[in-house]
Amino acid sequence: MKVLANDGIDSKGKAAIESLGLTVLTDKVPQDELISFINEHSIVGLLVRSATNVRQPLIDACPSLRFIGRGGVGIDNIDAAYAREKGVEVFNTPASSSASVAELVMAMIFASNRFLYQAGGSMPHGGHESFESLKKSYGKGTEVRGKTIGIIGFGRIGQALAEYALGCGMHVLFFDLSKTSQSIALHIQNQKLEMELQVSTFEEVISISDFISLHVPKQPNGDSVIGKNEFAMMKKNAVVINTSRGGTVNELELLEALNNNQIAGACLDVFENEPRPNMDLLKHSKIISTPHIGAATAEAQERIGLEIAENIKRIMKF
Ligand code: NAD
Repeated sequence: MKVLANDGIDSKGKAAIESLGLTVLTDKVPQDELISFINEHSIVGLLVRSATNVRQPLIDACPSLRFIGRGGVGIDNIDAAYAREKGVEVFNTPASSSASVAELVMAMIFASNRFLYQAGGSMPHGGHESFESLKKSYGKGTEVRGKTIGIIGFGRIGQALAEYALGCGMHVLFFDLSKTSQSIALHIQNQKLEMELQVSTFEEVISISDFISLHVPKQPNGDSVIGKNEFAMMKKNAVVINTSRGGTVNELELLEALNNNQIAGACLDVFENEPRPNMDLLKHSKIISTPHIGAATAEAQERIGLEIAENIKRIMKF
């Protein structure tokens, strides 16, 4: 029996699946050739990350499929309800990437507070001749300790981020549609320190925070959570961070807010039009952007691979 890992898989995860007696193919099959590849090889399981779409026509045209696995959290690239109706199991690996995404957010916070992205990008070109003027331009950072982070969406990643932010001496506010309080455990050396955080209102989080980080799923109808009205309520020094899903921050209204100096900056790992994001965002001097790499660490990918193997074992009843 063959499984196609179309967006790649960690070597330990691949070995764990193969130890169940399955063959794992890691060919990168283009989207428009997927149906014929799956049928030609009688693929029983299709594993994807965010790049491959698994829509109704593919599900209908590939009767050999018994499961579709998403290495990661959001399954918006899979017609999951339809697949389940047709008897095809769909699973994801929700817990594996939280720490990695939270660490990327912390990296973005530190990078934006000290202009690392802009200063680091300028040094290879002008560092030799314009050292003093670069020092003047970028030597006006601020400390992270004591700043307030507002976390919108306080699920797995939001809570993992709170632990890092609290550890760095930040004040943490959160807003979540389904929570009024949440206990956070800080693991320091071999000690565990528990603290209870109370929900704030959405308006408080938006208007008080120095950093506003989004950790919500793709919203119904693709609605944004942060747009024009929210930018108008933010502090002038506010930095908006989106590692959740493209579209949860309205990109055109973000550009407007940055150009009008309503907020200080933005850090984006996800975009409305992936894999071809709006160039105005990528080129903007106040935006730090990364190509959807929140979960792209060795540790997260290994955990994802092993979680996939566990799911397959459960589904195939090995
Ligand atoms: P989760 O399901 O554990 O938590 C999401 C939380 O958001 C829930 O508590 C929910 O109640 C809350 N929520 C939903 N809509 C809301 C709204 N409008 N306002 C306030 N709260 C709202 O999910 P998670 O594992 O923490 O993942 C969060 C997001 O991160 C998802 O969109 C996921 O796709 C994305 N993600 C991105 C990467 C990356 O590589 N950048 C990696 C993993 C996950």
